[in-house]
Amino acid sequence: MATQSSPPVTLLVLGAGGDLTRRLLLPGLATLLSTERDRRVRVVGADRAELSAAEWTSRVEGAFAQVQAPKAVTGRVVKHTEYVRSDILDPDSLGALVEGCGDGPLVVFFALPPSVTTRCCALLADLRLPEVTRLALEKPFGTDLASARDLNALLHRVVPEERVFRIDHFLGVNTVLNLVGTRFANRIFQPVWSRDHIERVEIVYDEDLALEGRAGYYDGAGALRDMLQSHLLQVLALFAMESVTTLDSEEVQDQKAQVLRAVRPWGRSAARSARRARYTAGTIGRRKIPDYTSEEGVDPARKTETLAQMTVAVENNRWAGVPFVLRSGKGMGEPRKEIVVTFRDVAHLPGGFQGAEGPDRLVIGLKPGSMELSMTMNAEGDPFDLEQKTLSATLAPPRMHAYGEVLGQILDGERLLSVRGDSAEECWRIVAPVLRAFAQDKVPMEEYPAGSSGPDGWLPSA
Ligand code: NDP
Repeated sequence: MATQSSPPVTLLVLGAGGDLTRRLLLPGLATLLSTERDRRVRVVGADRAELSAAEWTSRVEGAFAQVQAPKAVTGRVVKHTEYVRSDILDPDSLGALVEGCGDGPLVVFFALPPSVTTRCCALLADLRLPEVTRLALEKPFGTDLASARDLNALLHRVVPEERVFRIDHFLGVNTVLNLVGTRFANRIFQPVWSRDHIERVEIVYDEDLALEGRAGYYDGAGALRDMLQSHLLQVLALFAMESVTTLDSEEVQDQKAQVLRAVRPWGRSAARSARRARYTAGTIGRRKIPDYTSEEGVDPARKTETLAQMTVAVENNRWAGVPFVLRSGKGMGEPRKEIVVTFRDVAHLPGGFQGAEGPDRLVIGLKPGSMELSMTMNAEGDPFDLEQKTLSATLAPPRMHAYGEVLGQILDGERLLSVRGDSAEECWRIVAPVLRAFAQDKVPMEEYPAGSSGPDGWLPSA
C-alpha cells in the first residue's frame, strides 16, 4: 500500500461527469481513503462538461458524503483535486491534460463510453506518458472475441499488459479471498472439491432491479453479455481453478486462465445448453414494473434477454461430467446472489435409515458474504429418520466497498482482482456459440412476469 512517504498517485478520471464516476468510483475511493488513511491520491477529473472548480469540488464532497467519509478525509482530497474541461478525443486537449498530471505515477481511469475509450487509447499510444502509467477500465472489454482482441492490442500499444487493469467489481478482495480460503485453507472442503464428490454447481446472480433507465447500455447487451460473460465466468474460474502455491496475482491469474480454457457449452451444444427470457409487466415489492419491451429506449426487435442461463462443462480431470449452471436475471422477485454446490449422495446408505431429504449442499453467498451448509443428519426425533440440518454463518462485512478494494489494488499496481487480457478473450470465446444461437433464434425467447422467480423449471434448486 502507498504510504505518506511514497509519491502521491494521480488518478486521472476521464468521463468524470458520468454515472460510473458518481455512483461507484468516487464513493469507492472515499471508502478506500477512509479505511487506509495513509494513502495519498490526487484526483483529476476530466470531461467535456463545463464545470467550475467549485461545482467539481461539491460533486466530490457529495460522493464522499454518500458513504459518510470523515471530514478530514474529504478535506484532504478536495484540497488537491482539480477539474479540467477537456475533449478527450482532441489530441491537443488530451496531450495537455496528461502533461498537466506531471511525471509521478499516473492511473488513467476510463469512465467513458466504450467507443470513446477505444479512440482515446489510440491517441494515448502517441503521447509521452509518465514512466509509471496504469490504465484502468470497466467492462465491457469488447463486444465479442475479435473486438476484445483488438482492444487488447490497442491497450498494449499504450502500456504492457502488467499495467492494464480490467475492473470486475464483483471481485472485491473479500469475495476472492473467501472463495480461495474456503477451497484451499479448509480441511473439510479442500479434499472434496472435485467431480468425485460434487454433482453440480450453480452460480446465480438474480437482481430485483429492473431496467432502471439504463436501456441505452443494457438493450444492446442483455443478461448473457452483461453478467455471464463477465462476472459469473470470473467467479467460475475462482471456484474451479487448480490450487495455488501463493496468493501472488500472476499465479492466480494463470490458474484462472487455465480453467477458462477448459470451459465448453454443456453437451457441446450451445442451443441446448442455454436458455433466455424477458420480463413482462409485474410487481416487485411495491414497484410496478412495465413490460421490458415497453421500457423507454428498448427496441423489441433486438430481442434482448433480461434473464439468461447457460450450462457449461469444465473439460478437465477434476471437473469432467459436472454441470456448472450460470444464471442471471433482472426484475426477479427475490434477489439471489450465490454459488450453490450440490454434493453427490454417499456411496452406500446403511439399511434402516429412512427419509433422506435430498443431497448435501453448500451455499456461498456472493454479496453479502455468507455460508450455509445443509447436511443430512439424524439428529432430531426418531434416530432412524434422516433430515436436513443447515448450519449458517454470516461473514464479516468487507472493510470497504468492493469498488474501493479494486481501486486500492490498481493504485498499488496489484493485479489480483483485475481481469487479465487472455481471460477476457477466453470469456468471449466461451459465450460466442450461445450468442450465435440466440441471434439465429435457435433458443426460444421465454417470458416471466417481473417479480417472479423466472420461467418454471429453469434451475432445479431455485
Ligand atoms: P456515462 O455516459 O454516464 O459517462 C461518460 C462520460 O464521459 C459523460 O460525462 C460523457 O459526457 C463523457 N464523455 C464522452 N465523450 C467525451 C469526450 N470526447 N471528451 C470528454 N468527455 C466525454 O457512462 P457511465 O459512467 O455509465 O459508464 C462509463 C463506463 O463504465 C462505460 O464503459 C460503461 O460500460 C462502464 N460501466 C458503467 C457502469 C455504471 O454503473 N454506470 C457499471 C459498469 C461498467 P456527455 O454526457 O457529454 O456525453
